[in-house]
Order: sequence, then structure tokens, then C-alpha cells
Amino acid sequence: MAKSIIIIGSGMGGMAAGIYGQINGYDTQIFEMHTKPGGQCTSWRRKGYTFDACMHHFFGCKPDSSAYRLWHELGAMPRELVTVEACTAVASPDGKMFIDYYDLERLEETLLKLSPADSKAIKQYVGAIEAFSKSKIGDIMLEGSIRTMMLRFPAMLSVRKWMKMDMRCFAKRFSDPFLRKAFAELVYSNPDGPLFFHLLRHAGGLDGDIRWPVGGATEFAKSIERRYLALGGKVNYSSQVEKILVENDKAVGIRLADGSEHRADVVISNADGRKTILNMLDGKYINDTVRDYCTPLADETPFAIDVFLGVNRDLTAEPSSLVLLLEQPVTIANHKYDSIETQLYGFDKSMAPPGKGTIKVELLASYTYWKQLYNGDRDEYRQQKQQVAEQVIDILDNHFPGLRNQVEIIDVSTLMTWERYMGGTQGWFNFPNRKFEFSMKAELSDKKFKTTLPGLSNFYFVGVWATMMGSLFDNANSGKTTIRRICKKDGKKFIISE
Ligand SMILES: Cc1cc2nc3c(=O)[nH]c(=O)nc-3n(C[C@H](O)[C@H](O)[C@H](O)COP(=O)(O)OP(=O)(O)OC[C@H]3O[C@@H](n4cnc5c(N)ncnc54)[C@H](O)[C@@H]3O)c2cc1C
Repeated sequence: MAKSIIIIGSGMGGMAAGIYGQINGYDTQIFEMHTKPGGQCTSWRRKGYTFDACMHHFFGCKPDSSAYRLWHELGAMPRELVTVEACTAVASPDGKMFIDYYDLERLEETLLKLSPADSKAIKQYVGAIEAFSKSKIGDIMLEGSIRTMMLRFPAMLSVRKWMKMDMRCFAKRFSDPFLRKAFAELVYSNPDGPLFFHLLRHAGGLDGDIRWPVGGATEFAKSIERRYLALGGKVNYSSQVEKILVENDKAVGIRLADGSEHRADVVISNADGRKTILNMLDGKYINDTVRDYCTPLADETPFAIDVFLGVNRDLTAEPSSLVLLLEQPVTIANHKYDSIETQLYGFDKSMAPPGKGTIKVELLASYTYWKQLYNGDRDEYRQQKQQVAEQVIDILDNHFPGLRNQVEIIDVSTLMTWERYMGGTQGWFNFPNRKFEFSMKAELSDKKFKTTLPGLSNFYFVGVWATMMGSLFDNANSGKTTIRRICKKDGKKFIISE
């Protein structure tokens, strides 16, 4: 009889574990607390508009990339994709505009026009993107094989110097005041954003590896769910796991919130690690390292509030991402902003009714601030959300005159929304509390994935608690890695297609 595996959660890691589990002859089933697949990879529809809470940069669109091969195995590729011409754009209140074109010639020309005196910094910027493009660092991180590493070693050396800098620091290389400001805010309006991440996404767009999956996040997640179901997998929705059942230090099944128990030979958790370790397993399988991972994260979280607007306005000619520099700092929900970043989905016709457009603005916020509001007077919580939306609309109306009167629908989600649907300890921001450091040695070793807990057998993690990465392909890949490990333990050859 096939060995059975229970998977808690249908995020990228959970569904990938299910797919490779089915392919390798295991009898798997997923228990998901929400009513649909995808976890953080989510979007929803309101009055004909699609509001996407996840995707900015979707890696894995180039058929020769490692991420593409993974998506193909998971049934998510090929699919309809849209190419956008720029990574992001920045506009100043006095009408200056920097468009961060993926194409390097066009980018250099644009920057030189804005500030010829900054030719040295501009060359460094373009050169760094080129170096990232050549290094194929994404492939190394995903494959983690010595062969890939050896092939790319010289190119990797040329990107090393950019790995530890933040945007604020890089921006100081520019003398032009607008470019100085623009570069500092280029990564999601966050000067602390890592430069390497920006170079990685720019190189991804340049190489055609980053494009946009038409329909957005939920459509994407559903294609993976379809593959899982076609392989005979089973997903139980609205099924919140409360406990992992353990006998003689072996995971043997789960108990749901409705009290029902389900048994299996192996349990894999794609759920928030803190909840898994401290609640589902009562904190019994822990050591100092794992205890440290479970300590709370910083209270202020990026992408904590999303303001979605459906507008009666054609956005097809607008950049896909636009950072608006503000004349005066604005305080929204306890946080002071020098700029706000907007996503304008005019490039994907499926995101809004004909001739109309969808806009998203993501804001930082304090988890405690919103938690207290949510737990207190619910009307006050709703009013605060409305006020945030009004402030955002005011800012947008300055750049897009008349937009205020074109708003047809407003939807504001907060960390409480994520918590309600996904059960994390801090909304979607459910990473272990450990510092991410890119290390070539770790990338090539098994240590990259901490998938088990001390003293507990037949249990594995997939997703962000295994990878520490906030990326779709890394977390999907963790499902593959885990099933490969289970196969190895069972003396089976791991296969990738049925
Ligand atoms: C705002 C935002 C923007 C992002 N942008 C990008 C991007 O542009 N590009 C990119 O590559 N990545 C992006 N990411 C990251 C990417 O979406 C995530 O890293 C990835 O989806 C996480 O996958 P995961 O396997 O860790 O599972 P998760 O998505 O964390 O899913 C976990 C699942 O477990 C379920 N669950 C939890 N507790 C229980 C329980 N007790 N019982 C049953 N089920 C439970 C949840 O409901 C959820 O479905 C973004 C993420 C966010 C939040």
C-alpha cells in the first residue's frame, strides 16, 4: 500500500509537495483552512475588478530557466504572459519622471538625459544589471548544484560587491537631487530595500524571465491545484488544522478545528512555523535555535495594508509600477511616507472591465496598531481603513487629476485580513526570525533547507519556514526538495513526471 502524506496548507510549498508526492507514488491529501488554493499567492474579484495581493515580479517565464522548468512540472507553464517594458518608474511632484526601462540602452539614454553629470553612476548601474543578468544567480539559488555553480563562478564574482548594499546607499552615488531621491525609493518606496533584489528583478525583466501571468495570482495558483487534482491528490478546504498528532515522537496525523482526526505516515506543514511549532505541536519539539526562530519579528511590516481601487479610467498607457515622490511627507496609519508606490494593472486587460483600470497601493504598518484596532471597536477599524484609502486617493489624484471622481470601488486589506484567511502569527509576514544571508556554501548544501524539528520524526516543513525566502519559486521548490528527501529515506528513486 502507498505511504500516506498529510499536508497542512495549500500554498506553493504545500501544493508542490502534493504534486511530487503523487508523482512518486505517495497517497497525499492537503488540509487548507481557506476556501481556495494559493496561500499568499492570492487575488480576488470585486465588481469585475481583480485585486492581486501578491505578485509584483513573477520569475520563471523564460523556458531555459530553472524556475520555468519547475513551473512546467507543476502544471503552471506554459500560460499566457504579458511583457512590460519597465521594471518601475518614479515621478516627482514637479513633473519629472524616471522610467526604469528593462532594455539597457534605453535605460542609459533615459538616465543620461535626466542627468549627464551622473554618467559614472549610470554606467555602474547599467553594468551591475548586466552582471546580474550574466550570473544567472536565480538558477544557482534554485538548483543549488555544484555544476551550475562552477559554470557561473566567474559571473558570480562580478555580482558579489552588490550583494550587501541597500538602495539608500546606492542612491548616494548620484549627484542629481531627483535621481538621488528616485533611486532611494525605487524598491517599493523603501530606502532600506536591498540593491541585490532590485538588480535581480531588473535582470529578470531584461532576460524575459520576469513577465506577468495573465489573470494574476489566484489564476496562477489554480493551475497548480488543477495539476495536483489531476494526479489524484485531494484538497480539503475550510479545514483548519489545530493539532499534529504524535505517538512515540512520530507525527502520525492531524486534528482539525471540528475535532475530526486524520492519520498518515508523514505530516508536512506549509502553515506558519510559529503556529506549527508552538500550537500544533505544543512547543515540545524545540531547541534554542528553533526557539529563536519563533521569537516575534519587527512590529512594522512591509505590505501590511493594501489599498485597491477599481477606477473608471484607462490605465493601459501607464507604467506597471509607479513610485510617487511626495512634496511633503504624509503620515498614513502611523507611518510617515516620503513616497508611495502604486501598481497600475493596465497591461493586463483581464484585471478590469473594458476601458477601466485597477490600482494597488501597498503600505507599511505596525502589526500591533492594526491588531489592537481589529480586536477593539470594529467600526473604528473600518473607519481607519476608509481614512487610509481617502489619503491614498488624495495623493493619486494629484498625479492623475480627476481620479477621485473615477473611483468605483475601494477595497482595503490589512494584516488582519491575512491572519483571518491564512492563520499566520503576524499576518502574511510569517518568516522565522533568522537573518537571511546569501552564502554560496549554503546554497550548495543540504543545510539550505531546515525542514525538520529536533526529536520529531515523520514531520517536515515546506514553504517560508523551510526556505526563509519570500518568493514563489523558492517556496514551490521546497515542496520538491522535501519529497526528494522522503523518497531518499524510503530508498525510492525520485522522479519528476509520472
Ligand atoms: C504582498 C506579497 C507580495 C509578494 N510578491 C511576490 C512576487 O512578486 N514574486 C514572488 O516570487 N513572490 C512574491 N511573494 C512571496 C510569495 O507569494 C510567497 O513567498 C509564497 O507564496 C509563500 O508560499 P508558502 O509555500 O510559504 O505558503 P503560504 O503562501 O504561506 O501558504 C500557507 C498556506 O497554509 C494555510 N494554513 C495556515 N495555517 C493553516 C492551518 N492551521 N490549517 C490549514 N491550513 C493552514 C494557509 O491558509 C495558506 O494557504 C509575495 C508575498 C506577499 C505576501
